Amino acid sequence: MVNLLGLSPVELQAFCAALGEKPFRAKQLMRWMHQAHADDFGAMTDISKAFREQLEKTATVQAPAVRRDTTAGDGTRKWLLDVGTNNAIETVFIPETSRGTLCVSSQAGCALECSFCSTGRQGFNRNLSVAEIIGQLWLANRALKGDAAGHPIAERPITNVVMMGMGEPLANFDNVVAAMQLMLDDSAYGLSRRRVTLSTSGLVPAIDRLRDACPVALAVSLHAPNDALRNELVPINRKYPIRELLKACVRYIEKAPRDFVTFEYVLLDGVNDTLAHARELAAVVTDVPCKLNLIPFNPFPGSGYERSKPEAVARFRDVLIRADLTTTVRKTRGDDIDAACGQLAGEVQDRTRRHARREARATQEDSAPRAPRALAAEAGVPRVQAAEERVG
Ligand code: SAH
Ligand code: SF4
Repeated sequence: MVNLLGLSPVELQAFCAALGEKPFRAKQLMRWMHQAHADDFGAMTDISKAFREQLEKTATVQAPAVRRDTTAGDGTRKWLLDVGTNNAIETVFIPETSRGTLCVSSQAGCALECSFCSTGRQGFNRNLSVAEIIGQLWLANRALKGDAAGHPIAERPITNVVMMGMGEPLANFDNVVAAMQLMLDDSAYGLSRRRVTLSTSGLVPAIDRLRDACPVALAVSLHAPNDALRNELVPINRKYPIRELLKACVRYIEKAPRDFVTFEYVLLDGVNDTLAHARELAAVVTDVPCKLNLIPFNPFPGSGYERSKPEAVARFRDVLIRADLTTTVRKTRGDDIDAACGQLAGEVQDRTRRHARREARATQEDSAPRAPRALAAEAGVPRVQAAEERVG
């Protein structure tokens, strides 16, 4: 059985041709699947009965199964989706007055181990397929467009997509680009490139590839103004340091749908939120046309970090604004259902066996004591927790 949901228009045409059908059938199928959210070939009434019967025998339209569907007090809605044995991912819808944003996952888990991120703590299991990525938009649209009785709730509930759910989208490049191309396709979701944003922790070569393959709006998770601190918070920085990352951002802007890159900066109390950090940040991004988005840290059990105090957030923002940088503070949404940035956990069977490695390191420590800070850094334990441990 072929899952048609993840096929590109060209692949769908080839599929139709193999069954002896004309290319325009592919467009009809696209519309039925992505615009009418149909998964039942029987309902596709403008397609001949003979072809529908063939489709039933050879194909499916299948999004991940919904395991849980929760709505927060502020209307934020989170779906927990099954993607195989012991693997679940999360998708979040954030309604606002003038738009509705869907936050989409790209991987089950994440291998990049950013120290303040719940997904990163779980390790990595696998890349999501195109059908699993576009399937999130498919099922959210379907759920939001009608209530149980099929009454429409809103004509166009999802106006924007952000690739900011679980996983590093550029580490699943081909599938993410194919899914985004469906998001942009007029026979599918018809979103403009400005309304699809990809957030990356900074995989420099992949940023260049994205610029050529599918230049959507770009957000980059900076989180620190210098390499020493960024190495700790976003370990991929050891491979692609800030200077290289910023140069890639400038190259990206040549083709980007917006004339700026958004830098995300999660504010961690006492770690990266001082006035000195703010000044250093303003200086370091000065050559990049950018906007800054400050994200108050969203806690999760055992994170070892705390959210910056509101006064610290305001002071930090003011330094950037005085440096003429457009700066916003992200409103935390859906935190009563753990749907805020960095809290998405799902359920991931860690293929990297990171926990086993950590335990092995801890055993080593018993036999040969080392400086707690060095150990903490190696094991990915955040600074704050390491400091507390030292004191305690
Ligand atoms: N892997 C990509 C996209 C997914 S994470 C990336 O890292 O950019 C989306 C955003 O949430 C990133 O900016 C990430 O740094 C941020 N984030 C992760 N954990 C967080 C937390 N606990 N609180 C607030 N933001 C967090
Ligand atoms: Fe992965 Fe992004 Fe989380 Fe880092 S912040 S661990 S890149 S999902």
